[in-house]
Amino acid sequence: MNLHESTPPVRIAAPTLVDAVVIGAGFAGLYAHYKLRGIGCTVFGVEAAPEVGGTWFWNRYPGARCDVESLDYTYSFSPELLDQWRWSERFATQLEILRYINHVADRFDLRRDIGFDTRVTAATFDEAANQWVVDTDRGDTVRCRYLIAAVGCLSLPKLPEIAGIEDYEGRWVQTGAWPHEPVEIAGKRVAVIGTGSSGIQSIPLLAQEAAHLTVFQRTANYSVPAHNGPVDPDYEAQVRTDYSAHCQANRKTKGGVPSRIDSGVSAMAVCDQERQAKYEQAWGFGTFSLQSVFNDTTRNPEANALAAAFVHDKIRSIVNDPEIAERLIPRGYPFGTKRLCLDTGYYATFNRSNVELVDIRATPIERITRTGVQTTDREYPVDLLVFATGFDAMTGPLLTLNIRGAGGQSLNDAWKDGPFSYLGLAIAGFPNLFTVNGPSSPSVLANMLPTIEHHVDWIVECISYAKRKGFDRVEADEGAQKEWAHEVARIAAMTLYPQGNSWYIGANVPGKPRVFMAYIGGFDRYVARCEEIADSGYTGFRFSAVGSTE
Ligand code: NAP
Repeated sequence: MNLHESTPPVRIAAPTLVDAVVIGAGFAGLYAHYKLRGIGCTVFGVEAAPEVGGTWFWNRYPGARCDVESLDYTYSFSPELLDQWRWSERFATQLEILRYINHVADRFDLRRDIGFDTRVTAATFDEAANQWVVDTDRGDTVRCRYLIAAVGCLSLPKLPEIAGIEDYEGRWVQTGAWPHEPVEIAGKRVAVIGTGSSGIQSIPLLAQEAAHLTVFQRTANYSVPAHNGPVDPDYEAQVRTDYSAHCQANRKTKGGVPSRIDSGVSAMAVCDQERQAKYEQAWGFGTFSLQSVFNDTTRNPEANALAAAFVHDKIRSIVNDPEIAERLIPRGYPFGTKRLCLDTGYYATFNRSNVELVDIRATPIERITRTGVQTTDREYPVDLLVFATGFDAMTGPLLTLNIRGAGGQSLNDAWKDGPFSYLGLAIAGFPNLFTVNGPSSPSVLANMLPTIEHHVDWIVECISYAKRKGFDRVEADEGAQKEWAHEVARIAAMTLYPQGNSWYIGANVPGKPRVFMAYIGGFDRYVARCEEIADSGYTGFRFSAVGSTE
């Protein structure tokens, strides 16, 4: 079966010189191709996978689906595309999203300039020519004026630091790089290490097929039911009365999605009964609304504790064995400060007789053995080991590119104390390099589709401005970048987020600087700020060309 419903791409020869190189052919990279072509740029794309899709190409584990509603997780740049594409479920599966991306690539002929199965091995800025020199693992060298890193925020999967993986003689897989050939689960003794979104999505499905499933949990996570199902026809009809306007309105919201049941008031401003009713409504509605239904859940410890207690009670009511329920109850960090998960039947899965939950804080994993997982308590024999252990998020994919900017400075050095960037779009000292959803933009805290479209629109308009003015070099100013970093940190510190040991803050990667990596002030405020900056002639950016500066 051709899962992609499209013709496999023909391998193309890399050009030697283009206006822009775009790294990545997921949602961000593809849209960058479309927009850059629109302003007359020649473009070459480099993509590690053999196909388009990015995240949705790699994350094909059982249960993988989006946790943003399909009607909002969509490109909005083409009214015809909006009009004609129909999503079958409220939260689309990985396969359906991949079909959509392939449809878009075909429809707008976006593959023709992309070198697939190719990785960037180095990108070096040539100051004499104001060009990037991009090397690939195919031995190509491509020069370009602008380098667009559309590499994704969660695209470098991470194995855990557990000894003995190399000794294991069974099969092991990672959720973030799930094999393309079928993985046999039926009748197997399966173990999952990791209970973040990927683990929580896959565990209920693995449990249905496996003979026995052992879940190794280090930190219990907060999860709310997605309530997936067919797209609600009434809501869809309402959205479709003016779908473009609906998408535009998403740019004016904090999270890039419509606020459908949020109260807009503090959890402390209402009586117990009203608060409980609102929590129930959010629990019954799905999405991330339990986090946003009151406006202070992520800021006020008291409000946060009330939401947490509500989920704790829900877990107790779903899980039959009180001892297992207590193990599943998240403790030690505020609700939502590790990314909230959306599930289908996660907690109830622990009522199954073939599912076992191992608290590896109580009995830590000592090593992977030849035949399974050894904890301080006992050995668990395993035929299939699933690592749902997350990603080197935000910075990992950029730092593997071996980027060297002005003066030969490497990005790895520039970011040794944290990923500092101006607006998450550009990095001081790295002229003509743009990042889509880079660190210190709202990125992972908002709906990725509008944030991607916003970033690409902004970047392409900035390039267009430089072209119109005759400049060939644009770079973020160090001072403006520092101010922005200060602003990002200031706003994060006003919330409870830094208290969670999450990948948002680099806590899952040993040695990674602890810096909150996303702008938490809201997508709406961020968009307004970016507009202001562009309208004022790109405050905080320096443009130049041989013999002229601005
Ligand atoms: P994650 O949230 O980072 O979760 C990784 C899990 O692995 C955590 O439970 C972590 O425990 C555990 N872990 C890591 N190293 C370990 C070790 N050495 N020993 C034992 N346990 C270990 O990763 P993820 O689940 O892949 O999700 C990452 C992000 O991707 C999500 O937050 C979300 O933004 C995105 N995502 C989205 C969707 C969706 O749209 N539906 C689906 C999947 C993922 P600790 O918590 O103790 O570190």
